[in-house]
Amino acid sequence: MKDQTVFVSGGAGYIGSHACKLLRSQGFLPVTFDNLSTGWREAVKYGPLEEGDLMDRARVDAVFKEYAPVAVMHFAALSQVGESMEVPGKYWRENVLGALNLIEASVDAGCRNFVFSSTCATYGDKDEETLTEDTPQQPINAYGGSKLAIEGILRDFSARYALDHVIFRYFNVAGADPEAEIGEFHQPETHLVPLMLEAIAGKRPALTVFGTDYDTPDGTCIRDYVHVQDLVEAHVLGLKWLLDGKGSRVFNLGTGSGFSVKQVLDACRQVTGKDVPHDIGPRRAGDCTRLVSGSVRAETDLGWSPKRSTLDQMIADAWRWHSGPGYRA
Ligand code: UDP
Repeated sequence: MKDQTVFVSGGAGYIGSHACKLLRSQGFLPVTFDNLSTGWREAVKYGPLEEGDLMDRARVDAVFKEYAPVAVMHFAALSQVGESMEVPGKYWRENVLGALNLIEASVDAGCRNFVFSSTCATYGDKDEETLTEDTPQQPINAYGGSKLAIEGILRDFSARYALDHVIFRYFNVAGADPEAEIGEFHQPETHLVPLMLEAIAGKRPALTVFGTDYDTPDGTCIRDYVHVQDLVEAHVLGLKWLLDGKGSRVFNLGTGSGFSVKQVLDACRQVTGKDVPHDIGPRRAGDCTRLVSGSVRAETDLGWSPKRSTLDQMIADAWRWHSGPGYRA
């Protein structure tokens, strides 16, 4: 039997490439659609690369026509909270219009299974200790706002065109492929774990801790870190959920444990055995104090069970890839 094809937007990026590897190992053919603006050609190893931009509707249509995918996994997006506050228009335009094009193309091609990468940033800064899928969404940055808008588009298309979709609201993704074939690399880098590893490796002078005056035990922001391998396992379970006809559903993807920036710094030091050069700076605009999942819906409904999502394992896997193969910048 021919492998079922999955249209993977952003398959050259950090999470998308890990999803492609897992899809391939599970008998799917991942077709990466990517404009390589932030992704890496060498990350596309597990299926064909179709270069193109989601703003180019004709190009998107052509790829649907060529491969007749059974589903879409939509990873491609601008994803930096800080940048989204600097240039909000770019985030609203590229994230929302790109997704709208892809959603319309998918429906028009008769592909009615759609897996979407959303974010806990859609919840905003809440007083609650933990967030569930039912927590009201009030994003405080343009990144979260743009993702929330796409969730709305999916709901409307689902009502009108029977587009079944799984929305995953990610907490903070870290780690790398356990076999170190692919990993996390952004240019420029803004995410905490790779920044720490680059600072340790001497690839950047020091990392700045953004704010120590938050209302948390040590004053730094708290996040719920989930291993990229566990995260993409949830995606394949979500895909199978859709292919089994179980309908649209929203899932948080986090572990329920929160760690402060200082705790991540300590874990980095312990795992690598090296000090992390860092200084203290002001808060970054758009940062929430605390983002921790309080949901077990993915476990109960999808049978998801995170296996590598301890801080130590995530940092160890990321470090192995960072200090080993990496990508050519
Ligand atoms: N952070 C930091 N210094 C940096 C980058 C990030 O202190 O150079 C903090 C940031 O304020 C947040 C946490 O690390 O509290 C995670 O940030 P990241 O950008 O990795 O992910 P986000 O939570 O923004 O999606």
